[in-house]
Amino acid sequence: MADEHTLSYILNHLGEDRESLRGAVTPPIFETSNFAFPTVAAMRAAGQDELNNAFYTRGNNPTVEILRRKLAALEGTEDALVFGSGAAAMACAVLAFVRHGDHVVCVQKPYAWTRVLVRDWLPRFGVSVSFVDGGDVAAIEAALTERTRMIVLESPNSLTLELQDLAAIATLARARGVLTLCDNSYASPLLQQPAALGIDLVMHSLTKYLNGHSDVVAGVVCGAQARIREIFRGPYMTFGAIIGPMEAWLVLRGLRTLSVRMERICLSAARIVQFLQQHPKIARIYYPGSASDPQRELALAQMKMGSGLLSIEVAADDVDGIERFCDNLKMFLMAVSWGGHESLAWPLAAVIKDGNAQSNRTGLPWNLVRLSIGLEDADELIADLQQALALA
Ligand SMILES: *Cc1c(COP(=O)(O)O)cnc(C)c1O
Repeated sequence: MADEHTLSYILNHLGEDRESLRGAVTPPIFETSNFAFPTVAAMRAAGQDELNNAFYTRGNNPTVEILRRKLAALEGTEDALVFGSGAAAMACAVLAFVRHGDHVVCVQKPYAWTRVLVRDWLPRFGVSVSFVDGGDVAAIEAALTERTRMIVLESPNSLTLELQDLAAIATLARARGVLTLCDNSYASPLLQQPAALGIDLVMHSLTKYLNGHSDVVAGVVCGAQARIREIFRGPYMTFGAIIGPMEAWLVLRGLRTLSVRMERICLSAARIVQFLQQHPKIARIYYPGSASDPQRELALAQMKMGSGLLSIEVAADDVDGIERFCDNLKMFLMAVSWGGHESLAWPLAAVIKDGNAQSNRTGLPWNLVRLSIGLEDADELIADLQQALALA
């Protein structure tokens, strides 16, 4: 599946086999749990390779298979497995390769449920873990032991936008026989391809940019055929955390516009960052590659540009000021998640229990607000931020 194809070909044609589907321009939704065979021999043959045959939908389904092929091609890997959520994709990718006695290294501030998986679940099965500042390659190297089996990365992470040097860490890991897994949800394969930098497994929450319409929760793991097969035979078939054919079809529809959506989102985000940089009420901006980004050089080296997700510290006197800013946004909806058509704001203050800055136990600034830039008109978004910041 790792043929070289253009982005345009992948999004519009790859894997669709229209000839065998009566010319269907849009792939059919194979809403069926199982597949029948005319002979015992045919059934035996299909059952011997459930990953690549239509046999039972927990294993493979033709609509889902089209999505697998497109996602693998987007990341430049041989194959991919699609899951019912990004969290399931991450959990299955890790659990397929670690066993009792192994050690896992994870970046310090991963996505919340990746942290729970590594911090709380792995030790229950005798796997020891270390959380390390991923910005420091030497610290990652120092954390490796004889027992280290896997390094879990997220570059950039989705809240404070910290990067890891993927090529350097991949080189280090390969020399030690350690697997690398990178959550690439922030960048999408259009802005960063970890596999090309030597990372073994690339994971996404499809819920974010790849589907892009805030109407599906799904995830993917991309990698070499042998590793994908190992995940398939293990946690994929055992836990059954699959995507349904209908949701796979929705993600296929979302992918049609991936390149135009990302182009618009990235351009709007760049303009909004520029606006925020000169605004007196903004104390700090977190955005890969921006003038104030301490990892700017690394960002420019391994990513094409920043995507539509950024965080700001608002120069408010107290949490009330943050609430006035967020409550008065009219274009930005207030919600978790990101990467959809709609612009979003998520204030860290929403997780401070009594809403007092002094009670903040998150380790992150109380005045942090994450913005996800959507497909709306950039001027309207800037005007909205302008009026709401005046009230902060
Ligand atoms: C949302 C998210 C996930 C989890 O994906 P779900 O589809 O919500 O299960 C994992 N990693 C990152 C960076 C995310 O933003």
